Amino acid sequence: MNGGVVQSVLQTLYPPRCLGCGARVESDFGLCGPCWRETPFISGLVCDACGIPLPGEQEPGGPGAEPAQCDACLVRVRPWARGRAAMLYESMGRRLVLGLKHGDRHDVLRPAGRWLARAGREIFARNMLIVPVPLHWTRLVKRRFNQSAHLAEALARETGLRHRPDVLIRARATPSLGGMGHDHRFQTMAGAITLREGQRRRIAGRPVLIVDDVMTSGASLSAAAEALVTHGAAEVSILVLARAGRAT
Ligand SMILES: [Zn+2]
Ligand SMILES: [Zn+2]
Repeated sequence: MNGGVVQSVLQTLYPPRCLGCGARVESDFGLCGPCWRETPFISGLVCDACGIPLPGEQEPGGPGAEPAQCDACLVRVRPWARGRAAMLYESMGRRLVLGLKHGDRHDVLRPAGRWLARAGREIFARNMLIVPVPLHWTRLVKRRFNQSAHLAEALARETGLRHRPDVLIRARATPSLGGMGHDHRFQTMAGAITLREGQRRRIAGRPVLIVDDVMTSGASLSAAAEALVTHGAAEVSILVLARAGRAT
């Protein structure tokens, strides 16, 4: 059987379903029309550091203008260079991320890889290495699934960039950041992520892209970026599936 026949047999056996509502969809596109419209994909002018939408439609000032940043990133200078997000952590964006986090929605990964590839196209660089934010092993045992590592892998497949899930490790277990204020999150995460032994040569002088499912305060991403910068990465950028809230 040729590939086209295999494809149509598979589609008959497993017709593509919408990730949002489970309705049959025409192609393996991820979402049906109504669910697509309910998903807050980010477009237009965004903060160059975290990808949150900014008021205004166009890039200001044309070529050579300073990239715009949101208030949160101006107040808390990020230890990375640039950042993007595929969607807001709201409505369908929140549902998709929670499904992924709880490990029962592996079907979100491939479309999520495509959404990340589209959101990050301006910040990808040649020879860039993709690394996920690590989970501490105790949490990995409990959850059995590091959604960030799977997103990094899906993005690598879409872009052809290399990914390494083992570059960063948690130096210590940290309590869940849920419910903490932003300052408390940064205190909790400071120094909590480090480079795995023997990985320095992999990142030295190389641009690195950190991938995570959600950015809220940016505390976890900051801990990861600081570890990479300290150990000689050329330039560190971040890319997340969903940007939560108006961080302060
Ligand atoms: Zn749907
Ligand atoms: Zn920002």
